[in-house]
Amino acid sequence: MPEDATVQPPRLEAKSPFELRVDLGKGVPDTDVRGALATGDMGFLHSFTTGSAVDGPGIRVVAWTTGCMWRCRYCHNPDTWTLTNGSPVTVTRAAAELGKYRQGLQVMKGGFTLSGGEPLLQHRFTAKLIAASKALGIHTAIETNGHFGEKLSDAELAPLDLVLLGIKTWGAERHKALTGVDIEPTLAFARRLANAGKPMWIRFVLVPGLTDDEAVVSGIADFAASLGTVQRVEVLPFHQLGKFKWERLGLDYTLAEARAPSSEASERACGIFRAAGLTAN
Ligand code: SF4
Repeated sequence: MPEDATVQPPRLEAKSPFELRVDLGKGVPDTDVRGALATGDMGFLHSFTTGSAVDGPGIRVVAWTTGCMWRCRYCHNPDTWTLTNGSPVTVTRAAAELGKYRQGLQVMKGGFTLSGGEPLLQHRFTAKLIAASKALGIHTAIETNGHFGEKLSDAELAPLDLVLLGIKTWGAERHKALTGVDIEPTLAFARRLANAGKPMWIRFVLVPGLTDDEAVVSGIADFAASLGTVQRVEVLPFHQLGKFKWERLGLDYTLAEARAPSSEASERACGIFRAAGLTAN
């Protein structure tokens, strides 16, 4: 695809990733999609948001990729599952966008976070965009489920300052039931990051009746503590902000009746992480 066709994607910037977006890249020929995945010169983005205070240290610019092979029952952005729901954007264009925010991000001790969807589904694009961000002097982070971590070489991991790793639950069967996939690749990536001395934040979504079992929280806590490079654990309370997306996309949402955890339940989970020697909030 020529560069000009991708430099002005339709309304890339969004107020938040909770905007439902579908088919933005539908017209991109299959050969260009395959080419983009193979080279990483072009990627598919759901949206860009600026001024985030919750996706890594400081104030962040966040790019949300499309494409995810997991099917977490509580996913609040199921429109990001399909790659071509995103807008095609070249690395050159995305880096130019980032460059506009460089000074401000440095002043606010923030940086760039590539989230999703699952950014490592587009691992070539992720590697190139993170390297470009680092070359601009911008702090870099990815938020990932870690499943495709092995696709990044050690050299590609080097410019990553931080990994926000989602650990969804604990135990092989529970994990399969919640996400549809095996937990082991995620744990293997976590161990590899730890061996490389890479800082991590663990993100864990607390869903009453689904992930709030003490055995689950303790299992994740012990594992995270064993890694040695986990700087903090974020206990994220389940919410229903993505419910309308499941309904609008005609997907079977099994958590329609689930509630947000009480502040006491969140604090209890944080307490288990803290007891394992971790910083949790
Ligand atoms: S890994 Fe993230 S984007 Fe993928 S289904 Fe799970 S919550 Fe959704």
